[in-house]
Amino acid sequence: MMIVMQEGATDDQIVHVIGLIERAGARAHLSRGESVTVIGAIADDREIIASLALDGEPGVERVVPILKPFKLVSREFRRDDAVVEVNGRRVGGGSFGLIAGPCTVESRGQTLATAHAVREAGATLLRGGAYKPRTSPYTFQGLGRPALEILAEARAETGLPIVTELMDVRQLDEVLEVADVVQVGARNMQNFDLLREVGRADRAVLLKRGLMNTIEEWLLSAEYVAKEGNDRVILCERGIRTFETATRATLDISAVPVVKGLSSLPVIVDPSHAAGKRDLILPLARAAVVAGADGLIVEVHPTPETALCDGPQALHADRFRDWVADVRRCVELMGKVLAGGEPVPVTV
Ligand code: PEP
Ligand code: MN
Repeated sequence: MMIVMQEGATDDQIVHVIGLIERAGARAHLSRGESVTVIGAIADDREIIASLALDGEPGVERVVPILKPFKLVSREFRRDDAVVEVNGRRVGGGSFGLIAGPCTVESRGQTLATAHAVREAGATLLRGGAYKPRTSPYTFQGLGRPALEILAEARAETGLPIVTELMDVRQLDEVLEVADVVQVGARNMQNFDLLREVGRADRAVLLKRGLMNTIEEWLLSAEYVAKEGNDRVILCERGIRTFETATRATLDISAVPVVKGLSSLPVIVDPSHAAGKRDLILPLARAAVVAGADGLIVEVHPTPETALCDGPQALHADRFRDWVADVRRCVELMGKVLAGGEPVPVTV
């Protein structure tokens, strides 16, 4: 249920309604829009909220059901675009986020070189995998904890917030020591225990769409995170599996405007994993920006030929500046700003 407060409802009235919801054993989620405040009341049993008769409470405009299966992440619940802020870098609502970096942290030298190159080119966040979901158990699985230490060093040197993947709840604490944004990868999109855990963590979440998942399933996964109290979710379209073999996956560009219609969450696009081929990344990135994406995540490597993972789709670090200049023109065409928000200085 959604409790829409009157314009000008006081803080006391809002706190009173939240108290009633919580005392009844339901969960209250506050969403303050520009003029109207909405409180989402979530309970496994709908009757609990209906029995509260909240319409009569002071400051309440109306009580309406949220019709979509996903509630807190829906446009119905929150009409304006959500902006996820990460250490002063914004994604959504006119601010375009550019996440760039290696697929995998391979060494200190490779990661720091990439981090400096992407920062100088204009990236707003640094990506890099410490724990990698690899199709074959015989391929490089990531450096694990040492990689997290390297990422922390890269953040200290460049000031770029870190995006890194969490594959298993057992690694939650160590990943949270370093990650500014916790990535939940495509293969874990429906790992519901993992989603609940990141939902309880005080950290932004990058939720990739599963290779075989519908938009509704993807939004329901985002709802798992939001239901636990964490609404700082960035959705990432990364290509889905179709009959087509010319590309690694098929980038579902239509997902961008479809999801933006259904949800207030920011949506970014990963053209690297969708294409699997370096030369396709720029056209797909342009298409994503013009389709309304709130950001991009791309793989960059100083020497893609020697990369231990995903080399064929990695952009060259020394040519990344030109790549960003091209994307920036598209971002400006859409009336958005790359690197919205000044980075907060990092204290080492
Ligand atoms: C990645 O970002 O390196 C990755 C493994 O992505 P996905 O989960 O989309 O395959
Ligand atoms: Mn990769």
